[in-house]
Amino acid sequence: MKSYVLTQPRTLEFLNAPAVPVPPDCAKVRITHAALSPSDLSLYLGRTPGAAYPMIPSRQGLGIISEIEENNIYGLKRGDRVYINPYRACGECFECKTGQPRHCRNLQIMGVNTDGFLRDFAVAGLSSLIPLPEQVNEEEALFSEYISMAIEVLDSLNLEKGDHVVVVGGDTLGNILCQLCIYYQCVPVLVDRNRRNLDIAEASGVYYTVADELSAEQFVNQVTGGRRAKHLIFVPGTRADINTVVRYAAPGADLAVAGYLDAEMDLKLSPAVVRQLRVLTFCNGFNELRSALNMLVNKSVRLDGLRSGKISFKEAPALFESQAEAFERDEIFQYTVDVMAD
Ligand SMILES: [Zn+2]
Repeated sequence: MKSYVLTQPRTLEFLNAPAVPVPPDCAKVRITHAALSPSDLSLYLGRTPGAAYPMIPSRQGLGIISEIEENNIYGLKRGDRVYINPYRACGECFECKTGQPRHCRNLQIMGVNTDGFLRDFAVAGLSSLIPLPEQVNEEEALFSEYISMAIEVLDSLNLEKGDHVVVVGGDTLGNILCQLCIYYQCVPVLVDRNRRNLDIAEASGVYYTVADELSAEQFVNQVTGGRRAKHLIFVPGTRADINTVVRYAAPGADLAVAGYLDAEMDLKLSPAVVRQLRVLTFCNGFNELRSALNMLVNKSVRLDGLRSGKISFKEAPALFESQAEAFERDEIFQYTVDVMAD
């Protein structure tokens, strides 16, 4: 089993280890594609609080089943293309036992606090394997987790047709959130300091974008006819100031905070209390991965501008080193690793 392992920050080592046996209710998957995203750069740079090394990076991966028990209850078989759910609930805690694995107290996330997908084979539980619809190609499927999280966020807001949704942070998740707002027939307003992120959003069909957090308040007032927004979503990946967001909120608005990075966020609560905001937080896309793949079948999300490029397996170490800067710029960043390419 070949893999790249982060033994410590900025040190990615190639490892060739003996194959491990496949336990019952598990399958062995030949990883064909993995994604490298900002959370991997964060791990690489040693910026992820609580990260334990050694660790195989990459939080999204998929492949072809190479070893599996015949006649399993999931109807999966050798040769099936599958997306691997990167979330592993413990199955033992109160939340798991009462049907809320999304809130598992011991939740493991591949590529974050347990080994990820930058390797040629992975052993995964059968329940975590999601068959890839034939209409969805591998590069698209690697965005499923972002789409899943965006669905969870938007389904939690009481959205009505025509509502304005201010999204602060136009990284990959912020961009997909905006696109899904349009899909839900709402009007996204994207705020992001990075012009490139805004250009990509505009090309994805997002009409209202604003680069300056200070003028955004006036802009949101104009766009909403002075009512301000009923829904606000803060995406911490771009490290904007969460306290500016409250200024765009109508009284009683929803303020959702959604993201993967453990960025420092200091929300001053008094302005939120004065406006009686409903604050909601999200840190995973556990439940909606199948719906996300379905959205890809229907071509409901445009991914063209969100793909940074494609590399081979052995190009991974050089990419980490050369792209560390992209992390500092808070840019849209997702590379596909073609694990089988030389
Ligand atoms: Zn649990």
